[in-house]
Amino acid sequence: MNVLVINCGSSSLKFQLIDSENEKVIGKGLCERIGIDGSVISFTPNGGEKIVTKSPMKDHTDAIKLVIDALTDEKTGVVKNLNDINAVGHRIVHGGEKFNKATIIDEEVMKAIEECNDLAPLHNPANLIGVRACQNLMPNTPQIAVFDTAFHQTMPEEAYLYGLPYDMYEKYHIRRYGFHGTSHDFVSHAAADMLGKNYDELKTIVCHLGNGASVSAVKNGKCVDTSMGLTPLEGLIMGTRSGDLDPAILEFLCDKENLDIHGVLNILNKKSGVYGLSEELSSDFRDLEDGYIEGKENCIRAVDTFCYRVAKYIGAYTAAMNGVDAICFTAGVGENSGFVREIILKYLGYLGITIDKEINKTRGKAVEISTADSKVKVLVIPTNEELAIARQTVALL
Ligand code: AMP
Repeated sequence: MNVLVINCGSSSLKFQLIDSENEKVIGKGLCERIGIDGSVISFTPNGGEKIVTKSPMKDHTDAIKLVIDALTDEKTGVVKNLNDINAVGHRIVHGGEKFNKATIIDEEVMKAIEECNDLAPLHNPANLIGVRACQNLMPNTPQIAVFDTAFHQTMPEEAYLYGLPYDMYEKYHIRRYGFHGTSHDFVSHAAADMLGKNYDELKTIVCHLGNGASVSAVKNGKCVDTSMGLTPLEGLIMGTRSGDLDPAILEFLCDKENLDIHGVLNILNKKSGVYGLSEELSSDFRDLEDGYIEGKENCIRAVDTFCYRVAKYIGAYTAAMNGVDAICFTAGVGENSGFVREIILKYLGYLGITIDKEINKTRGKAVEISTADSKVKVLVIPTNEELAIARQTVALL
């Protein structure tokens, strides 16, 4: 079965066509600047060169049309026609409490996703536009929604409730939902496979460290806690996001900087994290690592503060699960930066963790970086959210 995986943002759209039989990517690409001057689609057929084409896209329907054209192009395409696309898997950011697993999309599901728009106003409406565009152009192809939040719906009440008046939860569904669920799901399963252990008998901590970053605790096959909350702003220090802070800082900043709440949230989302801590040097860990090695104070401060927060979450989740069997690192930083992993793991000697420093230099490949006698296994596992979406799509159909 060929599954088209769509990840639709407000002005961009990432796509991959995956053959579910062999799990190979047949073709992939990106539409950028949708609805803005200078729209461009890039497409890479499997084994071929990247093709970049400037082409106007007034909306997402135009973008999906171009995606289909690219996939079915006589010369550079990868399938003959639309009939060779058997299903579409959509990444949907927020499924609220309504969705604890992937779902076939019908009008009722569309409405239920729309009702979660309040919880992810930047993402969900864009995701839905992508679904509508595909429905219009491929009315006979099944469309499946795979939610970032679904994996975390198994969290117990004590993990997902905030210490707010309970009616705030009842009235407005204010609670911790968690994100990156597709990645945490994929990586925790891959960890069990790598260790040759039963998924339902493992205590795993997954550190998804990319531009956005989150940690999850997976006990006996279920997510029991995660660091992101009602929105993806809570938890770890990220590329440009602050993560956890004292909520009273918001009013304090409004007064001191003469800003309204939107202005302050803009700082928390876009000007904070390692970018803010490094005095706006960079949100990219490659730059920060270089600066760290050169002894630049701002880079050392940013990286050390980031790593300390990750180590604290690992400690907290070890307590939450009364132990841990495996710690996994994934996403851009987690997969590629042995430097960052080593700083984090230095805090965890008390767990009996020892690392093979040579193997820890490995980049972007699944590998065990702990030594044979380490009490807790430490794994690097490249995440693959598109493949996870394709797998869930096929499983549903
Ligand atoms: P993601 O959001 O998972 O795509 O991760 C993107 C981030 O990964 C970038 O902003 C970098 O901070 C980080 N990254 C990517 N490659 C490397 C690398 N080789 N070394 C360190 N960090 C990296």
